[in-house]
Amino acid sequence: MNERKVPFGLREGVLHYVSEVDTGLACNCTCPDPACAKPLIARNLPSPTRKRAPYFAHASQTPGCGGRESALHRMGKEIVECATQLRLPGWSALDGELSFSTVPATLAPGSAQEVVLREGQMRPDVKVIALTGQALLQALYVEIKVSHAVDWSKRERVMAQGLNMMEIDLADVSDEDLQDKATFAHHVLERADNRHWIHIASAPFLSRMLGHSVIRVVNQECREKRVPTQKGNQLVLREQAMWRHEPAEDDPKPFFGELASYMKGDQRVDCFGNHLPYRKGLYVVAYVPGRGSYYDDTRFKTQLRPIVQDVPWNAQKPLL
Ligand SMILES: [Zn+2]
Repeated sequence: MNERKVPFGLREGVLHYVSEVDTGLACNCTCPDPACAKPLIARNLPSPTRKRAPYFAHASQTPGCGGRESALHRMGKEIVECATQLRLPGWSALDGELSFSTVPATLAPGSAQEVVLREGQMRPDVKVIALTGQALLQALYVEIKVSHAVDWSKRERVMAQGLNMMEIDLADVSDEDLQDKATFAHHVLERADNRHWIHIASAPFLSRMLGHSVIRVVNQECREKRVPTQKGNQLVLREQAMWRHEPAEDDPKPFFGELASYMKGDQRVDCFGNHLPYRKGLYVVAYVPGRGSYYDDTRFKTQLRPIVQDVPWNAQKPLL
C-alpha cells in the first residue's frame, strides 16, 4: 500500500475498517493523521478487472500526510488496550546463555492505559499488567511501531529509567490483512516474529522466566570487613549490598557480596574486568574456575556478570 492510501478511516473518534463503511465520500471518514485530518474516500467496491485490496484515499492532494502510519499505530494501540492476551517476545542475553521463548501472557482486565508522560519524556503507547505462569510484570509498556527503524535514544532512555518495554512492529502487514479485524488483531497480539523486547528491568520477572537466580544491585555503597588470618594478620575485604531473586521465591534475599578486587590501572576490577563496586543493574553469579587456596579471590568471592540483552536486530551498534 503506498503512502497515499490509508487503511483505516476516522469517524467520530473511532477508527473504521474500509469494509465497514459506505463507499466513496459517503463513508464520512477523515484521515487519522491529526496533522492532515482531510476527508477520505472509501474505495471498497469489488472490481472485476483489478484485484486489489480496498482502501481509503484522500479526497484531495495531501503532501506529507502520515495517514497510513497514524492509522496502523492507532489501531494497533486500541487492539492492545482491549486485549486479554498478548504474546510476549522471546528473549536472550549473554550470547544466548540465558533465554526464554516467546510465550502468551494474560493481561489483567482493565489494566491497559494509554500513557502520557511529562513533556520531553518518552511516551510509550500502552501500559499493561501482564502475567505468564508465575511471572508477573506490573508495568509492561507496549510500543506499536510501523517501521523497522531502531530508535537508539529511546532504547537508552528505557534502560536508564528501568522500564519493561516490548515493541510490536507492524511494518510488514499486507494490505489484505488490514481489511479484517481478526487478521489484523493476530498481527498485533499473537505473531511471534514481529515483536521484541526493548528492555526488561524486572528481576523477579526475569528470574521466573529463566528459572535462574538473578542478582540485583541497587547502589554502589560498600563496607569493609576485616578477617583474621591463621598467621594473625588481618585481611581487609570489601563487600557490597545486593539482592538475590530466586525463581521459586516471592521475596528477594538481601546479602553482602564479598568483592574480588584486582587493580587494573587505578581501577578495582573483578576477574572479568568489571569495575568495582558493581553498578546498579541486574547480574548473574559467574562461575570462575578456582586455583584452590582459601580466599583466593577468583573462587570464593562474589563475581557477577551483567545481564546484557542480546539484540540481533541492532547488531549495527554495540550497547554498553
Ligand atoms: Zn492524510
